[in-house]
Amino acid sequence: MSEIPFLDLHAAYAELQPELDAAYRRVMDSGWYILGQEMEAFETEFAAACGAEHCLGVGNGLEALHLILRAAGIGAGDEVIVPANTYIATWLAVSYTGATPVPVEPNPLTFNLDPNRVDAALSPRTRAILPVHLYGLPAEMDALTQIAAQHHLLLVDDAAQAQGAAYKNRPVGGLAHATGWSFYPGKNLGAYGDAGAVTTNDPALAEKIRLLRNYGSAQKYHNQVKGFNSRLDPLQAAFLRVKLPHLPAWNARRAALADLYLRHLGEMPGILLPSVPEGMQHAWHLFVIRHPRRDALQQHLRQQGIQTLIHYPIPPHLQPAYAEMGLRPGSFPISEQIHAQALSLPMGPHLSPAQVEQVIAALLSFPA
Ligand SMILES: *Cc1c(COP(=O)(O)O)cnc(C)c1O
Repeated sequence: MSEIPFLDLHAAYAELQPELDAAYRRVMDSGWYILGQEMEAFETEFAAACGAEHCLGVGNGLEALHLILRAAGIGAGDEVIVPANTYIATWLAVSYTGATPVPVEPNPLTFNLDPNRVDAALSPRTRAILPVHLYGLPAEMDALTQIAAQHHLLLVDDAAQAQGAAYKNRPVGGLAHATGWSFYPGKNLGAYGDAGAVTTNDPALAEKIRLLRNYGSAQKYHNQVKGFNSRLDPLQAAFLRVKLPHLPAWNARRAALADLYLRHLGEMPGILLPSVPEGMQHAWHLFVIRHPRRDALQQHLRQQGIQTLIHYPIPPHLQPAYAEMGLRPGSFPISEQIHAQALSLPMGPHLSPAQVEQVIAALLSFPA
């Protein structure tokens, strides 16, 4: 049996090498390496793919979320509702602005922010709700939109893991006031370095982000606000333009592999499989199972040459970075249990069904 990697990033380059190499040459030959046509062409194409009016290319996913919150005027003294169960970037984007992230527990079946728990976390300082489409599964956007409207809050979604996901047949990216995207190499739509974007249907917010990402400047050497330097690299934009048309087919391959896992793993003792609520189109960025003996299971798979990862071993509220919050183990028990039991199985558009069958066989051979 051959080794099975968690994700083979080189395979996507191998599939598209002539087009990617041509994109590289086009940008190098253009003599234009900051902002410009290549980035704008990607913005137009990605906005269309998301069903959004505007797209702004930025440096990475963390900056995308940060600039949205900044542009909306969120800052010191404000609170933003975030999932307790997420990658720390979601929280850091809030902290960057000077505002405070207020964690809310997930629905244990979907891993996503539980709308029923948001009310209890609201305060007079709450300004925004920032759900994550974790692992590629859309958050419960209707319920969250309703809560946001009722309390006059901004709704911003972290779609770093959800390129190509859809909610009730509407693509993620045009569902909230603004959406933050990451094109980190391992994402469903991944660049060859850091890259990110914001999509929004709000023209005023789009204009503010356009200024903020480029030193607060619309005209060179004229600075209207104290901005940042966070621009999508034209070379990365060119690579993303090559990959974007392949995203639907690549996500379909992920969905077929997810189906294979779901059909064969139901009988495995102790396992909790991902569930997809009605009306949600999962992007299957990650295929995350839960198991009470997660560490032993990971070891068992490793011995059979199968690489798995843990997303994520430590929740943000227990990281030293957020020690100031004074939150102890047990503060967010649902989240902590997910972190203790979650295991991400190999998943990606270049993994073969035969490889997935090998992973399934290895899982089923785990002694109960
Ligand atoms: C990857 C990721 C980010 C951050 O993206 P970067 O481009 O690495 O800054 C933010 N949120 C989530 C949920 C992510 O998975």
